[in-house]
This record gives sequence, structure tokens and C-alpha cells, in this order.
Amino acid sequence: MTDTAQQSKLALSKRLDLIPPYLFARLDQKKAEAKAKGVDVINMGIGDPDQATLQPIIDEMHTAIDDASTHDYPPYTGTLDFRKAACKWTADRFGVQEFDPVTQCLSTVGSKESIHNLFLAFVDPGDYTLVPDPGYPVYNTGTIFAGGTPYKMPLLAKNNFLPDLEAIPADICKKAKVMFLNYPNNPTSATAPVEFFQAAVDFCKKHNILLAHDMAYSEIYFEGYTSPSIFNAKGAEDIAIEFHSFSKSYNMTGWRLGWVLGNQEAIQALGQVKTNVDSGVFKAIQKAGIRGFQIPQEDIEKRNLDVYEPRRQAILEGLRSLGWDIQGPKSTMFVWAPIPRSESSAADFCTKVLEECGIVVSPGNAFGDSGEGFFRIAMTTDVPRIQEAFKRMADKGIKY
Ligand SMILES: *Cc1c(COP(=O)(O)O)cnc(C)c1O
Repeated sequence: MTDTAQQSKLALSKRLDLIPPYLFARLDQKKAEAKAKGVDVINMGIGDPDQATLQPIIDEMHTAIDDASTHDYPPYTGTLDFRKAACKWTADRFGVQEFDPVTQCLSTVGSKESIHNLFLAFVDPGDYTLVPDPGYPVYNTGTIFAGGTPYKMPLLAKNNFLPDLEAIPADICKKAKVMFLNYPNNPTSATAPVEFFQAAVDFCKKHNILLAHDMAYSEIYFEGYTSPSIFNAKGAEDIAIEFHSFSKSYNMTGWRLGWVLGNQEAIQALGQVKTNVDSGVFKAIQKAGIRGFQIPQEDIEKRNLDVYEPRRQAILEGLRSLGWDIQGPKSTMFVWAPIPRSESSAADFCTKVLEECGIVVSPGNAFGDSGEGFFRIAMTTDVPRIQEAFKRMADKGIKY
């Protein structure tokens, strides 16, 4: 705590003290220092697409914003047209049942808010949630804001970065209300076979736990891979909901648009929280989103081939040239790699790469303790810059 904070007269909530410190803080500071010194920093840290939103969506937005009927408060749960399009897209894309747009689907102001709000709908003090570690930090903080306790399910290399459901203690299963899964996975870039989803559905049914699946990366994929939806598992609709987002799929992180669909009771409960918290998504953005759903899958594939595949190859080539023996991810915009054998901590390694080479990558433990020993490279910069990054590392003698 700083002196100023200690002198503060404001009485902050105890809840805020429980939120873990922001682990990127040290790296952010070093990054700012490097930039101030005039270092040409290559940023492969943050998972934010560097490309423009897909053009048909931009074009539709220009039209939609000129239509005054989009300017008033939207329906809290999303326009019916948007929810219809979202249910249909999900069914067509993954070959799953078409959910009822009225009762089983909501539009979201991006997934982040709804993931957070889901915990408010399901978790009381004393309750547990089951969250992946390493994982997207909101599963953890959302649980804590709701007064619950996150039980960390380690994602380990020896289990292909899938949680070991059998390893969850029986008393935790009893107290757990929500399980979060996220495949294709951030940060490990792992994918899950439908057999694992089936095991998770069966597990959650047995213990009466809501299964929430976060599918933010389904549309960034390689070598013809298609990620299964949780609803490809039998009986998932009885116990599961799935979060989808426009952010990474269509380069729309700033627009704030997503949808969530599945089990009616859970969707209704989440809707009740949301109705009291936010006021929905700008109708013009929902119209633009509907246009996004109409983009042919071939165009998404072409984007992946043109933009992400060459970067993925450049990163893999770079790593392999420095001694890493690494497989390419089938999906996501990340490569997850072990830190060099000579290094003892991910944070130290990432600090070294920044200070010596001017390169930003993310330490694995920033996403949870089980991420220690790994770092994450984001495919958010172009091939020449990626090659430059690996040349700098080679020059400094960095190797696996
Ligand atoms: C980026 C990301 C999201 C959030 O996306 P928004 O829709 O922009 O809120 C959710 N989950 C994971 C795992 C992400 O990486």
C-alpha cells in the first residue's frame, strides 16, 4: 500500500482487498520504462487483435447508426432479431440444437460482464466455484466479488491442459455451484475433445453444478480444426450455458458484443442480474453483429490463413530455431511455451526478455499459479516484427 492509500479517509469495501494483485503490473511498469528510454518495444503480450473489424460489419454499422430507431434503450436481453441470429448461427456452426431465442439466449455487453454477472446469480458466501488455473482472471474475481471461493482446477501439460475432474475433492464438489471451462483455451491454447465435454457434463449433472463454457476463441483456428461446442455433449442443455463473443472472432474487442445461450433457468437468472446492472447493447451494434453472423465461414477461414497462420508459423519457427520442441496450437491466437530450462520463474524470464530484447510476452503465472514455468506469446504483431523479435532473442543468447 502507498502512503497516500494509508492516509485515505475513504472506507473501501473489504471485497476489494480480496481481489488478487494485478500480476501484469510489474511488467507494465518495465514496458513503460523501456518505451520512455526509446526502446522499440515489440508487443506480443496482450490478446487484443491488431486488425480492423471485418468490413461487412463496419459497413452495416454506418447504416445502422444513421437509423434513429437504434438510438433509444435497447431491450435488456437483446433485440429479438439478434438473439434469433445468434441461436441460428450457433446451431449451424456447431451442429447443435437451435435454442429458443426468447428464453434461452441473451445478448451480452461482451462476455466479460456476463461472466462476472453469472457469479452474482449463482454464488452465495460459502459457495465454491471450479475454475481453471491458469485461466481468464474474471472466473476468479467474479467468484470473489460474489463472496464465494474459487477452487482452482490445475491445467497441466501431462493432462493436455484439461482439468482432472476426478481430482476435485468430494467436499468441494458438494459446495460447488458453477464450473467454468474455456476451450479453445486462453492462455494455454489447448483444445478439448467432445469426450472431455461429455465427462464434464456428466460430472456437473452428478453434482448439480452449472457448467459454463467460454468459447471466445472458436473462430481463430488452424489446419481445418473446428472446436466442439459444449452442446455437442449429450444432455448438456440440462446443465450448461455457453458464452460467445464477437471480440476475437471479428476483431471487435472495443465494440462490446457477445451472446450466451443454453439452459433456460440459468439464462433467466443471468438475465435477472443483467437487467438490474446494465442496459443492454446499443441496437446499432446488434444490427452490425447480425451482419457478422452472415459472413461466410470461408471468409473467416481466409482471415485465419492470411493473418494468423503466417504469424503462427513465424513464432513456431522462431521458437524451434532457439531449441524449443513445440507443437502449433490448433486454435486461439496464442502460443504457450515452457520457459527456458535455465530460468526459475516465468516473471523473471519475461522481465529479462523485455529488458534485454524489448519484447513483451506474458508470464504464465499471471493467469494463475499453475501457469508458472510457461509464457504466452500472442499472434498480435506482423511477421517481420515477429522475426525481428526472435532475431533479438538469438542475439542475446536466449534459448530453450
Ligand atoms: C477475451 C476473452 C473474453 C472476453 O471477451 P469480451 O467479449 O471482449 O468480454 C472472454 N474469455 C476469454 C478466455 C478471453 O480471452
